[in-house]
Amino acid sequence: SKQTFATVNPYNGETVAEYPMIEGAEVDARVDGAHRAFGTWRERTAEERGAVVGRAAELMRDRKEELAGLITLEMGKLIGESRGEVDLAASILAYYGEKGPGFTKPEPLDVGEGEAYIKHEPVGVLLGVMPWNFPLYQVVRFAGPNLVLGNTVMVKHAANCPQSALALEKLFVDAGAPEGAYTNLFMNHDEVARVIGSPHVRGASLTGSERAGSALAEAAGRNMKKSLLELGGSDAFIVLDAENLDRTVGAAVAARLGNTGQSCVAAKRFIVLDEAYDAFVEGMRAAFARLVPGDPAAETTTLGPLSTEKAAADLVRQIQDTVDQGATVVIGGGRLDHPGAFVEPTILADVAPGMRAYAEELFGPAAVVYRVADEDEAVALANDSEFGLGGSVFCADVERARKVAERVETGMIWVNHPTGTQPDLPFGGIKRSGYGRELSALGMREFVNQKLVRVL
Ligand code: NDP
Repeated sequence: SKQTFATVNPYNGETVAEYPMIEGAEVDARVDGAHRAFGTWRERTAEERGAVVGRAAELMRDRKEELAGLITLEMGKLIGESRGEVDLAASILAYYGEKGPGFTKPEPLDVGEGEAYIKHEPVGVLLGVMPWNFPLYQVVRFAGPNLVLGNTVMVKHAANCPQSALALEKLFVDAGAPEGAYTNLFMNHDEVARVIGSPHVRGASLTGSERAGSALAEAAGRNMKKSLLELGGSDAFIVLDAENLDRTVGAAVAARLGNTGQSCVAAKRFIVLDEAYDAFVEGMRAAFARLVPGDPAAETTTLGPLSTEKAAADLVRQIQDTVDQGATVVIGGGRLDHPGAFVEPTILADVAPGMRAYAEELFGPAAVVYRVADEDEAVALANDSEFGLGGSVFCADVERARKVAERVETGMIWVNHPTGTQPDLPFGGIKRSGYGRELSALGMREFVNQKLVRVL
């Protein structure tokens, strides 16, 4: 566990700001505050709570440049992508501000005698443990719907995104959230486990690595609290034919390199039928070769650094171990000759079971390409993974693609488009990618008391 929360610019390694952690009684006081806030927040109408979340969306749009700049400074996202993240996060807040109250309406049950319905009641204080890769989006998809439901939320953000964390807390306060409805906590991992044990805390949600997810779920299980986990992935991108290949390659490059490859639903394993393989790999290689590394705050840069020096070192180790195990390098393979946390855009081929890149998530600009003979082999390879988050299937024949897509064992699968996210669609995985869903009506049914009311 880290000792402080700090902004370290991954482009040049400079520590820009540092914040102390709080612990013990100071943390407890904030948990108490969140619990007191729940008592009044739950009494407001869902429409009133939705109005606060809707105002937060407006403020987020007003503050777009400032927030985008912070994201880029703290984790190195290309500035254009940071603006896109602000837009996405604001659209989620706006959507739940407006539509969220509708999801909380009681649902009548069809019973013969008398009346029965399900009332969706909030459960109390929730703790969210959030990662650095989308410092706003990951937080709002947890906080937005839950605030509208009537839960109060506490957020332990990633230790490398303290300024984004503070900006979010300020955003909700400025939008009119009462004190304690949204609480930022700069605390360490031990405190996370302790807070989950507090009788005031009713649930915990984490987006991040399997290691972090299992620690959180262990603490939640020990205390009989519900948890939701959104963990890593190694999504398959299946190509069935060579039609529209330029479009498919464009989608593949975007799906692998968006956010410099640091996305749980990035396409990581490219599984291509023999007839399309050579042209596909050449198209991808050419696109990777054209990238321009540089300052992520500069508009002309097309390849930014990874989030931290450690992230870059870890990825290169995974790549080099896989090459030592017998894989072939199509392009890249090491660190870029450039200061900052840069990794060469990399494509690996001839990756086989037992090699690191076959089984592990590659969280950065590194793709693995596989040549397969037919659809059955593609599906078998896609499903030979401990992960099960998203995935995509590309083919001019949409019905053929749909049939293959339905055989892939994941929480989400997209046809002729990389796996994405939008406010009105559920998001989540199976297997070691986690459990539970965020967003949509499903996301609003996770931390809720689905209470039966029977009237006779
Ligand atoms: P982590 O999972 O360590 O970080 C995510 C969040 O979990 C952070 O807030 C972190 O806090 C917290 N955390 C970590 N361990 C614990 C713990 N034992 N108890 C409580 N909270 C904990 O991700 P990393 O940054 O280390 O990234 C490592 C790998 O995780 C990546 O390479 C990628 O494979 C995966 N990952 C996946 C993400 C996704 O979107 N699915 C997002 C981020 C990472 P702190 O920052 O203080 O350590």
